[in-house]
Amino acid sequence: MSSSLLSTTHADWQHRAATLSLDGAAYIDGHRYVTRQGESLASINPMTGTSLTEIAACGPADIDAAVDAARRAFELGAWSRAEPTTRRRCLQALATQVRDHAEELALLDSLEAGKCIHEALDDVEEAALLFDWFGELQDKCYDQLAPSPNRVQATVAHEPLGVVAAVVPWNFPLHNAAVKLAPALAAGNSVVLKPAEESSLSALRLAELATQAGLPPGVLNVVPGYGHVAGEALGRHAGVDALGFTGSTEIGKRFLVYSGESNMKPVWLECGGKSPHLVFDDCPDLEAAVDNAVAGIFTNAGQVCSAHSRLLLQEGIAERFLEALQARIATLVPGDPLDPATTLGPLVSQAQFDKVRDYLTVGKREATLLCGGETLQAAGGDLFVAPTVFTDVEPHHRLFQEEIFGPVLSVTRFSDERQGVTLANASQYGLAASLWTADLGRAHRFCDALQAGTVTVNGVDAVSPQTPFGGMKQSGIGRDYALAGMHKYMALKTRWIHY
Ligand code: NAD
Repeated sequence: MSSSLLSTTHADWQHRAATLSLDGAAYIDGHRYVTRQGESLASINPMTGTSLTEIAACGPADIDAAVDAARRAFELGAWSRAEPTTRRRCLQALATQVRDHAEELALLDSLEAGKCIHEALDDVEEAALLFDWFGELQDKCYDQLAPSPNRVQATVAHEPLGVVAAVVPWNFPLHNAAVKLAPALAAGNSVVLKPAEESSLSALRLAELATQAGLPPGVLNVVPGYGHVAGEALGRHAGVDALGFTGSTEIGKRFLVYSGESNMKPVWLECGGKSPHLVFDDCPDLEAAVDNAVAGIFTNAGQVCSAHSRLLLQEGIAERFLEALQARIATLVPGDPLDPATTLGPLVSQAQFDKVRDYLTVGKREATLLCGGETLQAAGGDLFVAPTVFTDVEPHHRLFQEEIFGPVLSVTRFSDERQGVTLANASQYGLAASLWTADLGRAHRFCDALQAGTVTVNGVDAVSPQTPFGGMKQSGIGRDYALAGMHKYMALKTRWIHY
């Protein structure tokens, strides 16, 4: 982040927000597009409860238009058959555009999703990194020459699939979009992206920046709208060759049905989580573990798929840990997301707030309240939930099993490794897991035994473009990031040439 952004004050951010231009129109075939039915939905700022602007609500005819534009672009070949170097340069130019517009993109995400402005700036940089990384990757991938009989050549090549659809949630609006777009575009596909109802503006602006970076018309289309209309239309569309989804497990399962009832398109799912965070008595750095426990559940007000919402403490360290945890939680600052001092923003919407508030009632019935447990008003905003910790949480409790997606941490104690691993794995989810120990053997044993797509030792929730990210069990199917994240948007073609 540039030093000028770091020194920007609350008043500066408010002023810049007030002068932003907000355009909620869809983006199809290289330009803004007016929907056939003219329907729209309001984009609400969760901090103020007021409408920021109207967003196009695309219907099935608009989805057809976007898929048609994507197909035409794919068949024209200006992107799908472009030289790898051309694709690299364009994606890198897009990364530069994203960085050059970091402040604007971060503001859009902060205003629509209630994200703290510095976190939103970090997300923008991570999105830029993804365009850089996949741009670089795709012209350094080689296909294979298979062992074959004399006078026969067998090769295995990766080809773009065609039209890829992406449906994403609101918790990291621009970043979630980039996670799907960067690999799918790098692979040579055309893409139709549906952002979440709560947060469409940064994805729409990104599409304009992509055109300015040289992406041919129709290669990236953005169709905002309701999930059960625009999302379902994409899920069932016969012209969509593959679909990447990030969102809840419940809706992820629906996409499997849409696919089964239409053209059997591959569906890649990044879904919910209830990540365990184990701290053993021999934790090598209590202070770092406490800081990570707090970041692991209170970043983005707990609205993170891999939020480490189940803290599992070995009995010998539990009291000390909880004392330090409470002291650290007391330093969190709820407030206006545009205030750089704020570390806890509002929840994204009234519906999410109501859902989390209900879990506070459930928690008080099931377990012991250590801190928080109430809603807050901060800087005039109504949708805040105090950072909350429940102890004595048991595996059969709803608090232990259900994804709350808010600033609510459940704590359970364990005695030994066997009980620790049993508790950690007692979940329908398997997205991420973290543990703290000074015992290298135990670190390896837990990396083997934990049912999670990513296990982090002596840290929490490590993630980067270089390593695959995704879930086991009902946290999803497939992986984002890394080579695996690009290959899923490609078809394998085997050729046998007899000569
Ligand atoms: P959601 O499943 O309600 O919505 C996600 C997307 O699906 C949105 O674009 C929405 O419009 C669309 N959608 C909703 N109903 C639909 C329907 N009937 N048919 C087609 N599309 C539909 O999820 P959310 O509440 O926006 O996001 C929170 C969830 O996302 C959490 O469960 C979280 O764990 C998950 N998530 C997962 C990851 C990951 O990488 N695994 C990352 C971020 C968020």
